[in-house]
Amino acid sequence: MPTENNSNSLSAFETLESKVRSYSRSFPVVFRKAAGALLEDEKGSVYIDFLSGAGVLNYGHNNPDLLHGAIQYLQSNGIVHGLDMATSAKREFMEQFDAIILRPRGLTYKFQFPGPTGANAVEAALKLARKTTGRHTVISFTNGFHGVSLGALAVTGNRYYRGAAGVPPAGAVFMPYDGYFGADKDTSKYLDKILSDASSGVDLPAAIILETVQGEGGINSARKEWLQSVEWLCRRNGILLIVDDIQTGCGRTGSFFSFDFAGLSPDIVVLSKSLSGVGLPLSLLLLKPELDVWQPGEHSGTFRGNNLALVTATAALHKYWLTEKLSQRVLEKGRIMSERLRQIAQGSRNPLLSVRGRGMMLGLDCSTGKLAENIVRKAFEDGLVVERCGADDQVIKLLPPLTIDGETLQRGLDILDISVHEISKMTP
Ligand SMILES: *Cc1c(COP(=O)(O)O)cnc(C)c1O
Repeated sequence: MPTENNSNSLSAFETLESKVRSYSRSFPVVFRKAAGALLEDEKGSVYIDFLSGAGVLNYGHNNPDLLHGAIQYLQSNGIVHGLDMATSAKREFMEQFDAIILRPRGLTYKFQFPGPTGANAVEAALKLARKTTGRHTVISFTNGFHGVSLGALAVTGNRYYRGAAGVPPAGAVFMPYDGYFGADKDTSKYLDKILSDASSGVDLPAAIILETVQGEGGINSARKEWLQSVEWLCRRNGILLIVDDIQTGCGRTGSFFSFDFAGLSPDIVVLSKSLSGVGLPLSLLLLKPELDVWQPGEHSGTFRGNNLALVTATAALHKYWLTEKLSQRVLEKGRIMSERLRQIAQGSRNPLLSVRGRGMMLGLDCSTGKLAENIVRKAFEDGLVVERCGADDQVIKLLPPLTIDGETLQRGLDILDISVHEISKMTP
């Protein structure tokens, strides 16, 4: 007998869906609707969303302005699937992205639309870097996360994910990320030495891939100077710089690209998650024109450039990126959030709690996974959806929609505050 749609019953998920499911375990209700920064379950309980689909919903759930164009497009028989045939929707997206995002920054890139996931884009970037340089090694960083398909997994640090590969994830060498040994050690000096020493044991890499703020790895943010040093090392040694802006991009740290603040000019940029603006699958590689050594169809895929997602992505560019308004609001709200998080950490009287991150990509480091888990569970009971990250899941990761209104943001922070307070009282 089918389950009633007002029950929050998880039994179908437990019996029919694979054990691989994860978020439905952390948030054990059945969600039915969402708008802006709010989620609603089958019983009508409403939750504030500080998860935002792990960074997919920067502009909130079901953003009406972005959906409006998509509905019109569907009703007018706009093409939804066209492999990688030329479509009006794709032309419009590329021209607008070039005009609104790239040209004002003095950036020149060609567009490659791989399959729709972030990992698809990372795979394409790694393959292209190897093909164009003729080298095989890629340097990645401790705590880096770039996806779980085999090539992307090889540059992902987490042992839990790597252990599931079934074959040794190959082709990557890990170097210490900024701050890995503490704030006073500049790990780019170590990288420099490894690259310049012909006997370091590390082959000259095709590329270095990095996140400017490590999302899954624990909200570790790299300093501007460190990023600039890494870019300079890439230039000096003929190594390609790949910035994985899948989670950090589309305004999460303030400006459209997370590397704008450091003035980087990466050879390849990968985008996905919030790119479509409404949660439709879409990913993109931006590559310097001279790297475009692909033969026609050499890297293929059925879903290259989802036209409906391209329509909403273009609408997002028009709505949010023609002016500086959104960027400024993200920086303001980010300051409010980090200030409040600092107060929460201090109020907990647990000296191990600390705040990290940039823009509206912030983390409350609880130092143990258990403490973070208890806080997040209590917060969910009180109506806040928020997840954890880091090697031991010890960091509470706050990714509210960038468009969240001030009052809902405060309410979410209040819930977190109470949870930290209550749980800290119980945990000696
Ligand atoms: C989510 C993510 C990916 C992988 O994207 P999928 O769509 O899950 O394959 C890669 N890199 C970063 C930084 C991410 O946050």
